[in-house]
Amino acid sequence: MYAPLPNHFVPISDDEWGTNCDDHPERRAIKRICVEADSFGAEYSNMCQECLDEFNAYKQQKRDDPEQWDTCPRCKNSVPQLSSFRDPDEGSHGPVYHRCPDCVAKFWKRWEEENCYDDDDY
Ligand SMILES: [Zn+2]
Ligand SMILES: [Zn+2]
Repeated sequence: MYAPLPNHFVPISDDEWGTNCDDHPERRAIKRICVEADSFGAEYSNMCQECLDEFNAYKQQKRDDPEQWDTCPRCKNSVPQLSSFRDPDEGSHGPVYHRCPDCVAKFWKRWEEENCYDDDDY
């Protein structure tokens, strides 16, 4: 089953979160973003155009201000935004990890090396 990750946009559907903006209940949402996800489930936020603009502006000013950057729990580097991923070995609903893009790239590289077998070995 499809499991969302934080900071990823997902399609809006008429479910428990509804189809209207969280901050402006009278407006229709145009985007839905996953704000939190773990092995128990996910939380979403609906946004209208104005809220989306605000969200993008917030991300932009965070990128421009290193004091607001997140620290990677693994390598302690500061990055504008940590990336989220799941370890495929723990299943599509396993715990969600937050790392800097470098650590995420390293993780996938290692994972591919461990999970890709050369056919010539047979
Ligand atoms: Zn709104
Ligand atoms: Zn890192």
